[in-house]
Amino acid sequence: MLTNNWQTQRLSLALQQLSQHTPPRVRAAVFSTIWNRWNTGRRWQKRKRSENQCLFGCDAEDSIEHYCHCGTTKLAMRKFLRLDPYYFANVHTFMLVNQHIQHTDTLITIALLIYGLYNTTNTLRNHKEQQPNHDNNYTYNMLVQNIKNGARGHPISTLTLDHRWANTNSTQNNNNTTQDNKALYNYTINMG
Ligand SMILES: [Zn+2]
Repeated sequence: MLTNNWQTQRLSLALQQLSQHTPPRVRAAVFSTIWNRWNTGRRWQKRKRSENQCLFGCDAEDSIEHYCHCGTTKLAMRKFLRLDPYYFANVHTFMLVNQHIQHTDTLITIALLIYGLYNTTNTLRNHKEQQPNHDNNYTYNMLVQNIKNGARGHPISTLTLDHRWANTNSTQNNNNTTQDNKALYNYTINMG
């Protein structure tokens, strides 16, 4: 199902959508992810060294492949972004070719998550020598703040983030959200 052709079409459409719905700083982080530009320990061939460790404190590598399904990423997905980690905590999501990304608001939310993770891990990596161990709460809050920073000042991104939980509260909200989503949803693609 996930042929190269399908993934290329999917990615191309996703990037077109993001150009309309997210600020340039978010798209820059998305590009950096797709082109493997994160300054991770793994990228710099430090696989066997002590500094190649998850910056959120897991016993795992400092790598994009890990951050896609790190416990802190999953927590932000569940608690803040309303993305089900079962479907979205994987590398396909971070390459924007996960077949479960079916609506523009999901795509925007994922782009904001990528921006948040990219910036949070950069900051933690740069300050590691001064402050080697942060508690989980501190790093989680930093991630959430960076996700919000990604959306800041951009009306569609901000609206999307604000509405992640809107349709769980009442039928009225449900209808509103459906209408808002319709305006964004032109993200269908031939799966063949
Ligand atoms: Zn981790």
